[in-house]
Amino acid sequence: DEQNVGVIGLGNMGSHMAFNLLKAGHTLFVHDRNDAAMQSLVEKGASKADSPKEIAERSDVVITMLPASSHVEEVYTGSNGLLSSSAGLRPSVLIDCSTIDPQTSRTLATKVGTCRLSASAVNIGSETPVMLDAPVSGGVGGASAASLTFMVGGPETGLKAALPLFNVMGKRVVHCGGPGTGSAAKLCNNLAMAISMAGVSEAFALGQRLGIDSSILSNIFNSSSARCWSSDTYNPVPGVMDNVPASRDYKGGFSCQLLAKDLGLALVAAKETGSHIPLTKQVYEMYSNLCQKGYNHEDFSNIFQRLYEGEPLH
Ligand code: NAD
Repeated sequence: DEQNVGVIGLGNMGSHMAFNLLKAGHTLFVHDRNDAAMQSLVEKGASKADSPKEIAERSDVVITMLPASSHVEEVYTGSNGLLSSSAGLRPSVLIDCSTIDPQTSRTLATKVGTCRLSASAVNIGSETPVMLDAPVSGGVGGASAASLTFMVGGPETGLKAALPLFNVMGKRVVHCGGPGTGSAAKLCNNLAMAISMAGVSEAFALGQRLGIDSSILSNIFNSSSARCWSSDTYNPVPGVMDNVPASRDYKGGFSCQLLAKDLGLALVAAKETGSHIPLTKQVYEMYSNLCQKGYNHEDFSNIFQRLYEGEPLH
């Protein structure tokens, strides 16, 4: 059964996710503060909404794909926000796919849970509307090929209702637990990824200076205890693998800027929970430094090149 779906945030990721929903036959309402981003989906058959409030009035399910926590807060709780209607909420499920801090996810989920459902809301078996935090991995390629992985925090009822939409936009859905656990999973994944990328890059930089060919060293890593995604799937040394950013001047990947944002969120979360994450702190400083040096839009695997060239990163 097709539902009206509202998507807010039509950037690198959200535009592809919205287009996949449209192709699957959903009636789609879109909103972005950038008019041009809306226009290209309107040309493909979506209807434009002027505010998050209008999205909420016209949609059974809402998906947000925004840059950071502050944008998600504004879109939900702002004066023309998703939750601003006094007549109760039409959407019974609100799905936030942005990478934001788990505390903001939990706070918003609580707020959504205090809202009333409007008379026209689809019954999903919950007395109140439900919010899910559902950040993704898979990047722009995964968004376009509909092969994203969703890490979902929130109640089972919401997940069940949202599953058909997740399956249109992605391939895997992992229920992580209650509100905020999807965001937590995403931050933990990205901090481990950043540290492993920096570690592998240090090893390759030293190896090259010791005279070991990086392709040979990669073969050893990938059949030994140093094997990881950063060595066997997303190798940071130019020429070792085809089809990775390292082999196209570190273009078209996951930017240093977005990674620095995620590491910053992990540091905030660590502070809030009294956790000690010294390696994350160090890698965050290295990536902030790369951003300051003007590499903010380059892929994050370029840390290999900077280490090899001996640029001081802290
Ligand atoms: P983006 O900057 O390309 O897109 C964000 C969109 O949100 C823009 O079109 C912007 O105009 C819109 N927007 C911002 N504030 C708004 C507001 N108040 N109201 C309406 N629209 C607003 O970002 P992206 O690359 O699509 O990433 C989105 C999220 O997904 C981020 O949290 C990012 O960390 C995460 N993510 C990105 C990737 C990736 O490879 N790009 C991978 C996984 C996760």
